[in-house]
Amino acid sequence: MKVVYHTLGCKLNFAETSRLSFDLESVGYFAAKEGETADLIVVNTCAVTQAAERKGRAVINQLKRQHPDAKVVVTGCYSQIKPDEVGHIEGVDIVLGAQHKFDMASLVKMLNENEPDTKIFHTERSKVDVFFPFCTAGCRTRYLLKVQDGCDYFCTYCTVPIARGKSRNASIALTVEEAKKAAAEGAKEIVISGVNIGDFGKSTGERFVDLVRELDKVDGIERYRISSIEPNLLTDEIIDFCANSRTFMPHFHIPLQSGNDDILALMHRRYKRDVFAHKIAEIKKRMPNAFIGVDVIVGFNGETEEHFNDSFEFLQSLDVTRLHVFPYSPRPNTAALSIKPYVQNGEKKRRTDILMDFSEKRLHEFMKSQIGTPAKVLWEDTDTNVMHGFTENYIRVSAPYDASKINTITDVVLGDFDDDNECLKAK
Ligand code: SF4
Repeated sequence: MKVVYHTLGCKLNFAETSRLSFDLESVGYFAAKEGETADLIVVNTCAVTQAAERKGRAVINQLKRQHPDAKVVVTGCYSQIKPDEVGHIEGVDIVLGAQHKFDMASLVKMLNENEPDTKIFHTERSKVDVFFPFCTAGCRTRYLLKVQDGCDYFCTYCTVPIARGKSRNASIALTVEEAKKAAAEGAKEIVISGVNIGDFGKSTGERFVDLVRELDKVDGIERYRISSIEPNLLTDEIIDFCANSRTFMPHFHIPLQSGNDDILALMHRRYKRDVFAHKIAEIKKRMPNAFIGVDVIVGFNGETEEHFNDSFEFLQSLDVTRLHVFPYSPRPNTAALSIKPYVQNGEKKRRTDILMDFSEKRLHEFMKSQIGTPAKVLWEDTDTNVMHGFTENYIRVSAPYDASKINTITDVVLGDFDDDNECLKAK
């Protein structure tokens, strides 16, 4: 049997699709090659914005047109939040919510019975409790280790706690086993992922920092990156450990969302901006060359021009490397909908452009500051005559293609910007 996959949304979704494909192979469903007709379509959806839901519907329709005889299984956040809406999309056979996503390999068997009705497997948020860790290859050099799922924070703009259920994890021992398996497959670098990973340990009475300590000991893994961690959960103890560890890279991704305390309060974020500033200062004190990416939402309900300007000034005062800027997108069933006034789309775009422009300049300055310095690059596979890799502090580096370097770490000196200005040339 042949399967086509389509994944929308975050890196965690992509990792989960990779895991689903592994499960489906075990029951005889193999990924269709280019041009092959599929027997099964699997769409792993996102619901972070209305546009993401729309895209999910469009993808299902498009794939069904391309593979008219294929059965269709839809999972992911859109399936958990609006199972009936997904079930009513023409051609959908099975809808799998959060609790049943990884039952896909056993549930597709019922598709052979020519069952005409759409089957919806949905469990309400408070009862979603299934979790198992896994480590899967994103590319040949970078693996993604899922350590946690769900979230109990309920930020007022976010549907993720509804879509993915409550915060949960497996034990440190089981999680570390997955990293060891990846090491045995040849993995060199692992990205630690989840929905609210700093909350790791809630279901097992353990702590994220202790997971970090144990992962650092796994033979064969040379690099870990922490995908994204809430500022209030990024403790000084974690920062201190990363600064001294064998394998944890000087690379952080921390969601700020707004640099104005009034807006942070409206968002129900669990910190004030001073806490955030302290974390950035602490990282830079211990790891001066660290790359720090920061998420920001602009045009949140109630964000006046003064709030935005205050937030922008705060961002300018921080030693951060790059911003990931998201114009606020209203989501059904979230508390933010009752916050007024709403910001017009044109104004959201203006604010987004200001922050994007700032981000580009900061990234350029950061990369420029690294020219002429020595670095260790883990080289990735590419299919052109140029290969790319990343330094410990997440600078993308280019070099002439050399297959023998793939999945190895070499010492280089960072040269000038490459033609696309997005990476530095290795010398
Ligand atoms: S911490 Fe807030 S933004 Fe992040 S997943 Fe949880 S509710 Fe959503």
